[in-house]
Amino acid sequence: MRILIIDGYTDEPAGLGVPPYIDIYPRYIAGAVWCASPEAEILYLTIDAARRDREGLRRLSQASDLSVLIAGVTVPGKYLSGAPATYNDAVRLPGLLGSKYKAICGPAAKFGFGRGGGRRCVSKDIRDLYDFVITGDPEVVVYRLMKEKFSDRVELDSVRESAGGSDAFAERGARVIRQHPLSPESLICEIETYRGCPRSIVGGCSFCTEPLHGYPEFRSVRGIAREVAALHSEGAVNFRIGRQPDLLIYGSKDTGLACPAPNPSAIRRLFSSIRKAAPSLRVLHIDNCNPATIAEYPELSEKALREVVRQHTSGDTAALGIESLDEEVIRRNNLKVGYDGAMRAVLLINRIGAERGESGMPHLLPGLNFVYGLPGETKSTYEMNFDFMKEALDSGLLFRRVNLRQVMVMPSTRMESAGDYFARKHRHLFFSHKLRVRQEIDLPMMRRVVPAFTVLRRVRTELIQGGMTWGRQIGSYPVLVGIPRQVGVGSFLDILVVSHGPRSVGGIRFPVRMNDLALRELESIPGVGSKRAASIVLSRPFPDLNSFMEKFGDVPALARMAPFLEF
Ligand code: SF4
Repeated sequence: MRILIIDGYTDEPAGLGVPPYIDIYPRYIAGAVWCASPEAEILYLTIDAARRDREGLRRLSQASDLSVLIAGVTVPGKYLSGAPATYNDAVRLPGLLGSKYKAICGPAAKFGFGRGGGRRCVSKDIRDLYDFVITGDPEVVVYRLMKEKFSDRVELDSVRESAGGSDAFAERGARVIRQHPLSPESLICEIETYRGCPRSIVGGCSFCTEPLHGYPEFRSVRGIAREVAALHSEGAVNFRIGRQPDLLIYGSKDTGLACPAPNPSAIRRLFSSIRKAAPSLRVLHIDNCNPATIAEYPELSEKALREVVRQHTSGDTAALGIESLDEEVIRRNNLKVGYDGAMRAVLLINRIGAERGESGMPHLLPGLNFVYGLPGETKSTYEMNFDFMKEALDSGLLFRRVNLRQVMVMPSTRMESAGDYFARKHRHLFFSHKLRVRQEIDLPMMRRVVPAFTVLRRVRTELIQGGMTWGRQIGSYPVLVGIPRQVGVGSFLDILVVSHGPRSVGGIRFPVRMNDLALRELESIPGVGSKRAASIVLSRPFPDLNSFMEKFGDVPALARMAPFLEF
């Protein structure tokens, strides 16, 4: 038996599978295949690789019994290291696949294909193109298909019977990560602790698909730790506990509440078990936290977040789904938190996480997520949201990233009936607001979060464009770093930050070897300029720091750089 998994990448409200992330879908499907048929051969291919080599894809699939395409982006995003599968990919692929059976799964099979913020999903029928359009949990359905010899009686909407129902698949499928092109050091494994949202009992937020999973049921710490141990034994060293809408309520003892209380000891057990399961891990990060949980239970939230900071790795982000601070928008879309509650959450995370860690970044900062194009939105909505960010900035607080997005209209949510009317009506407003936030909020915040002459450790280079190399640290919402020279993709570098943009920083390799810096690198140091950069190049080599400082020590930026220079 041979199965081909084509990872078209996924991005959902809770869960990311675009490189350098690998989401649970390919791992769990692989586990289901190996549980059903231990001798089966699994070939894992990313959609980028499939696009690059169509002949290879045809060849691989011809010898396969089943090809499975995983696809679906249900929140809009921009990606540096991978282009998620589109509707066109999903239409073209079946014609290239020579396998006996073809299946598609993931959010695209469930909801359709996202086309970016402010637009409806494409939900055109792909039913005729695939033998199996899996709308349930892919690993459960694939397991049954394998067991029942691809019978058309298998229900394609079958789901796990319990929160831990796929734990065995999770553990068994870890081996597939070896086939990922970024494995092991550059890959980050997304880990699920639960799904569903407690606010499903009050209808959830108008735009969100998470309440469709119902009220949360938690995976056991043991099940999660076994999965992490299996991934670690296959080489994984980077993990994000990102597949849940609010990490803080993991293990909550409250049932039936729309806003359950955090359980700090469950968070402590979870993180210490992960640490034990993966003793050599390099990155342990989180993702979403509900600001309403923090506002409602500040003491328990503080304890839970202190556990995270005690056991995670620095450079971490707790993304807060603030969505909108306009009372009318909050009311009409059943959102979860108002202005004061959101500000309390930002304050509390700052108090716990602002200290800088060994990665060079603060330990844990809030991320601010806003959604636009929701019913009730007016011009003043944009002002209110801006005022919130400005107040946080002026109060000296830190936040790692502001995510402004236009709502993606998903079927089966309440936004479906409202449609994209507000997003289309306010498109210009949205873009001018975004520009203002980038200049007046993001830029000063970037200077505060990553001040000049910060050393960022282990920045991984990802892309070379126009003589610039772009890279990021591995983790949750890492800062984009531009290096003004070409460096091989996939290298890990320590970078000294020298300049700032609203969404990125500029940096040079650390330790700084003045005798080796390219002209463009010298020019990127603030206060150096092209004339002085040329003069430095002409005066090289410098035998030591003193001889360099004698000549150029009067330039304040170069004088400040003295501790970072090497000759
Ligand atoms: S709180 Fe709202 S946005 Fe968050 S998961 Fe629940 S429904 Fe979705």
